[in-house]
Amino acid sequence: MTSPVWHPFTQHGLGEPIPKIATASGAVLTTVDGREVIDAISSWWVTTHGHNHPRISAAIAAQAGKLDQIIFAGWTHEPAEAVAAELVRITPPELTRVFFSDSGSTAVEVALKMALGYWLHRGEPRHRILVLEHSYHGDTIGAMSVGARGVYNQAYAPLLFDVGTIPFPSDMQATLDALEAECRAGAAAFIVEPLVLGAGGMLLYAPETLAAMRDICAQYGVLFIADEIMTGWGRTGTLFACDQAGVVPDILCLSKGLTGGAVPLAVTLATDPIFQAHWSQTDRSKQFFHSSSYTANPIACAAAAANLAIWRDEPVQDRIDTLAQRQAAHLAGIAHEGAVHSPRQLGTIAAFELGAGQDYLSDLAPRLLAHFRERNLLVRPMGNTVYVMPPYSITPEQLGTVWTGIREAIDRFG
Ligand code: PLP
Repeated sequence: MTSPVWHPFTQHGLGEPIPKIATASGAVLTTVDGREVIDAISSWWVTTHGHNHPRISAAIAAQAGKLDQIIFAGWTHEPAEAVAAELVRITPPELTRVFFSDSGSTAVEVALKMALGYWLHRGEPRHRILVLEHSYHGDTIGAMSVGARGVYNQAYAPLLFDVGTIPFPSDMQATLDALEAECRAGAAAFIVEPLVLGAGGMLLYAPETLAAMRDICAQYGVLFIADEIMTGWGRTGTLFACDQAGVVPDILCLSKGLTGGAVPLAVTLATDPIFQAHWSQTDRSKQFFHSSSYTANPIACAAAAANLAIWRDEPVQDRIDTLAQRQAAHLAGIAHEGAVHSPRQLGTIAAFELGAGQDYLSDLAPRLLAHFRERNLLVRPMGNTVYVMPPYSITPEQLGTVWTGIREAIDRFG
């Protein structure tokens, strides 16, 4: 019998096999029939310390036996308080408030709503949102609106709101000029993926550009929203990508590695002025009108608390540095192949284009997917953009096997 499950970003009509995973440990997934698959993309960029890190698994189990769920509107619990306190401690002091939600997309929706609420409650309504070309911020309607228009969202275009698109900084000055013109005209906020545009194709830009963009927003009072949903938790070599540019955002979105990648949770951090704009002793209409049933679910918060403890107590940064060095060596090993275009790396993320002039729907993508699946590798190119973004616990041998599979793909399809 065919499965009734409808998978995301999957063309079921191609009839491709869909491996069924039974267990996972470290960087290895094991299928129900006992095959071991190396997870080279951290199961969609979420798994940081490796699957089933014992401390995270134990925290989830312990919390599940204690307090499973509690409404978060006007009630609280220790795991949420602990996570919020620790997030405020490890992020810049300007970020004083933590709003919980449950996915990257909702963290972005919350950020956009906070920005508009801020301007409305200050009595100077502003609505225009500025975005960077090629961005991706999620698949809900608001998050799609601030993402690049294209195949991912063309069916929903009539529902998406207009934004001001700032050119990707291939030419830094052109980007800054366009941003300044938009800011001068009066925008509510500018949302960016710091240093790496992930789903847009692992496109990198310089910390200096990020810092300059932030300065322009500050000059015109346009709120600067950093979407670190993919870049956060060490992926780019530092805890947050903004750290490399000395950038302090007004609003910071985090998810994915927030729980080490074990269970869904997200947060949107905000500065005090944004919180204060929603604060009143008399006017209840200013409260922040956003919730979801599972806001700050205690089990997810317990996983996040365990993740934060791992960052505190274990040599996570050393693992990241070592992985980044290994990634650099592997990338250098293929960089001069004729079919390899734009090899690039930031921290633990390595990427390149296999062949030129393809796009997300190119025929190459399913052939590459099949190639990697045959080799028991979870590598999921975006079109012809091949990237490796593994859990930090991947062993040198496992990483070597991933890059051997990549070299074979270059030989086969390049
Ligand atoms: N923002 C960025 C930068 C992302 O990379 C993603 C997901 O890949 C999202 C937002 C959306 O996160 P989620 O898939 O958890 O909704």
